Amino acid sequence: MSKGDRQRSLSVPLRLISDGQLNWSATVPAAALLEPESRDTLRIADVEVPLDSDVGVALALELISGGLSVAGEVRAAWTGPCARCWLPVDGEVRTTVREVFTAEPHEGEQYGLGPEFADLAPMVREAVLLELPIEAIRCPHPEPCPNLPAELAEAHEDAAEGGPAEFADPRWEALEALRGRSDETT
Ligand SMILES: [Zn+2]
Repeated sequence: MSKGDRQRSLSVPLRLISDGQLNWSATVPAAALLEPESRDTLRIADVEVPLDSDVGVALALELISGGLSVAGEVRAAWTGPCARCWLPVDGEVRTTVREVFTAEPHEGEQYGLGPEFADLAPMVREAVLLELPIEAIRCPHPEPCPNLPAELAEAHEDAAEGGPAEFADPRWEALEALRGRSDETT
């Protein structure tokens, strides 16, 4: 954010790396991480990065033998449903990257480098997707939720009160409601 180096692009003109080093801080909409014509989303299971949310990077670029070294921090917002009550939970990814960009990259180890630009979007996209939570998300709601699935209930509740509770997956609530309605009409 300092000295006016905030950018709106993840495409870095290599000519700016005049003395071999460049700090690149950028904030872009998450949609900028996708391929131009891609219909992809930034999603792992039920957790996604909203395409209109901000993704921030603070990176140090350095020319090295055979390419460009890129290291620094990547931040992004995510949203996903609480495993207990299905209400949306918001969170933030904050991770560090250290990668090499080169004209002839080794697949899966390095990123491609064009003759004039370094496109940082694929690296940022992968860094963000790798850090999205894959475990069950919990909202901060303090009470044991009646919709809590049994396997999560055991981990969450120290002592269950009363008899065995019936836990329903909230995703099935709509279906149950429909079923109930059709029972009434028949
Ligand atoms: Zn919840």
